[in-house]
Amino acid sequence: MTDNSKFGFGTNAIHAGQEPDPTTGAIMTPIYQTSTYVQESPGTNKGYGYARGKNPTRVALEKCIAALEGAEFGLCFSSGMGAMDAVCKLLRPGDEVITGDDLYGGSYRMFTKIFANYGIKFHFVNMTDASNIKNFINKNTKLIWAETPTNPTMQIIDIAACAAIAKENNLILAVDNTFASPYLQNPLKLGADIVMHSVTKYLGGHSDVVMGALVTSNKEIYDQLYFILNSCGANPGPMDSFLVLRGIKTLHVRMDRHCFNGRKIAEYLKTHPKIEKIYWPGFPDHPNHEIAKKQMKDFGGMISIVLKGADLKETFRVASSFKVFSLAESLGGVESLINHPATMTHASIPKEDRERVGVVDNLLRLSVGIENVEDLLEDLKQALK
Ligand SMILES: *Cc1c(COP(=O)(O)O)cnc(C)c1O
Repeated sequence: MTDNSKFGFGTNAIHAGQEPDPTTGAIMTPIYQTSTYVQESPGTNKGYGYARGKNPTRVALEKCIAALEGAEFGLCFSSGMGAMDAVCKLLRPGDEVITGDDLYGGSYRMFTKIFANYGIKFHFVNMTDASNIKNFINKNTKLIWAETPTNPTMQIIDIAACAAIAKENNLILAVDNTFASPYLQNPLKLGADIVMHSVTKYLGGHSDVVMGALVTSNKEIYDQLYFILNSCGANPGPMDSFLVLRGIKTLHVRMDRHCFNGRKIAEYLKTHPKIEKIYWPGFPDHPNHEIAKKQMKDFGGMISIVLKGADLKETFRVASSFKVFSLAESLGGVESLINHPATMTHASIPKEDRERVGVVDNLLRLSVGIENVEDLLEDLKQALK
């Protein structure tokens, strides 16, 4: 096996886990569109028995994502939620989880509406000061689930500080690294045990695949997660694995442009008279800017804004009047999107809970794409007039 650690990020994004096809020399990993593999005699398969367990296209992608996170092992799932579901299945009834109070809506929904029914208890804590976590640790605590930057208020959580608390108390630290992507942040290097991605977002990058991934360097955790993947069956198909292998090859180039465009737009909106508040971790006055600077390579293309004095009607008017940005859920693709969290991505969170962390009715979230930034600025200008 190639030692990917000696190569740079861009080289790994293009090559890690991938060898020319042994039969033909095809440079792109073939789409192994098969459900099973022929055996010469019973039980003598070539490492591939049945495609729920393993598929060569998926294995190439798993190795590539692992290399980008500096991890030993990678696993891909049929969605980001499928990946999170597998992490929750490491737990038993009676176990407790400490997580943030600003989470992706689907994560909150899965914790409170699915796994709470299986006897697992979740504490939603302000993790922007990691020491708050300590107040919720007891003998049943098993997992810290951190999302950073958070969706949509761009809180920054100190991964190294969480990892220190997890180590001290023998807990697993899992980090949802979707917003940063492996290009901007590598939580395992800061002491996390598991990193989760909604591959649907930056890793895939082209808004054409739903997929999730987990990486870890802990063999015991990997074995358990693989057992869950194979037993419960949230495996992605080979065609989707191929599309992500293709998308990921430009991750570093795309991310540089997302960051460049994101900065220009954040700076433009910061002083805009129609904007009451802007959330972007690149501003020196962001409450955890110093931590963001320490743990991220750059600040990304996700920005949230609160429209000054806008009621729901005016917020909807603005959200619907873009010409280059598209009004849609999701993020991380090459095209710019605008989203209204209160009625779209975060609609499953009770109003009081979301408003407590700032997800108000006049908040809009931008996923800045990689179009020409002048066109994006012009579009914002006309929509906000
Ligand atoms: C989208 C998203 C998820 C869920 O991933 P899916 O691929 O949509 O299942 C989880 N966490 C974050 C931060 C996300 O943005």
